Amino acid sequence: MTLNNTIEIDIVKASSSKIASVDFENLTFGNIFTDHMLICDFKDGVWQKPIITPYEPFLIDPSAKVFHYGQAIFEGMKAYKDDNDDVWLFRPDENFKRFNKSAKRMAMPEVPENVFIEGLKTVVDLDREWVKKGLGNTLYLRPFMIATGHGVIAQPSSEYRFMIILSPAKSYYSGEVKVIIAEHYSRAANGGIGAAKAAGNYSAQFYPTKLANEKGYQQIIWTDDATHTKLEEAGTMNVFIRINDTLFTAPTSERILDGVTRKSLIELAQRDGLNVEVRSVLVEELVNAAKDGSLKEIFGAGTAAVVSPIVAFAYQGTEYQLPQIENSFALQLKEDLTKIQYKLAEDTFGWTV
Ligand code: PMP
Repeated sequence: MTLNNTIEIDIVKASSSKIASVDFENLTFGNIFTDHMLICDFKDGVWQKPIITPYEPFLIDPSAKVFHYGQAIFEGMKAYKDDNDDVWLFRPDENFKRFNKSAKRMAMPEVPENVFIEGLKTVVDLDREWVKKGLGNTLYLRPFMIATGHGVIAQPSSEYRFMIILSPAKSYYSGEVKVIIAEHYSRAANGGIGAAKAAGNYSAQFYPTKLANEKGYQQIIWTDDATHTKLEEAGTMNVFIRINDTLFTAPTSERILDGVTRKSLIELAQRDGLNVEVRSVLVEELVNAAKDGSLKEIFGAGTAAVVSPIVAFAYQGTEYQLPQIENSFALQLKEDLTKIQYKLAEDTFGWTV
């Protein structure tokens, strides 16, 4: 198949589809995958021709560098279906740029734009039946790259595999989200890899998150590693804090992932005439605002969860509840964003593709 600008992709179609066996009403996030996947290998210093094959396991050498030195990056994005059965991607160029930023930081080769973007469009088109209509139904898209070169010597691989796999999904979090403010552990440090979507950033969070889970909290809000006094982001979401009628979110940095949802919500809040300020909020400010009643909302923002309101936070052993409020900014912004994603409102920003 040849696409406009460009690229030849060999396609081997699945002999039959698994779709009839899937219960789309009861999906566990990230657990079921569609019929096809895209593979593009990097070797001898060049990207090879991409292929789309049936979704299946593949062989990899036990000494592949991904297993030993963790060269692995990924992206997370979604496809949406509108009422006319058209399928849309949301700001895929942003994910493409962030992917290559991650690649560079992990000493991995950058993926060509047409492999990433046309690869996505082609594999999503092939599996478009897996994108269901209706708000909340999405196809979660997972482009990723691993170091496949063999040899247990600690240096960058010379061979890589870029892949795209697709998973039908409903919204990520259900129920109430309570968080702990990090006092000891850190997710990222200046000069580190916090701004990259590198696999190791996630495994490093599992242990402290497990400790939080044991205390009844679903997530951690990370603080700056040097002083633990500034609020940064959550495990897979950027964080917004509303004090009185001002919405704050931390500036992106070497330690914080530059979220596509975050930057979209900032623009939507500005469009709606809400007061939005990009600046770090101190833990002390948050606690004081909770005590004096000026803290109105905390919410996470990310592709998987979209917007995830937080009902309570714990700091130094004390739990602070968020108030029940009318006119929630979180819900307003979520509605604004999902209307654009599902083509229920005009996309004046040109975000949908
Ligand atoms: N922070 C982290 C650490 C994440 O993993 C994610 C999910 N990609 C986000 C924030 C939100 O980013 P996005 O809105 O692009 O999904």
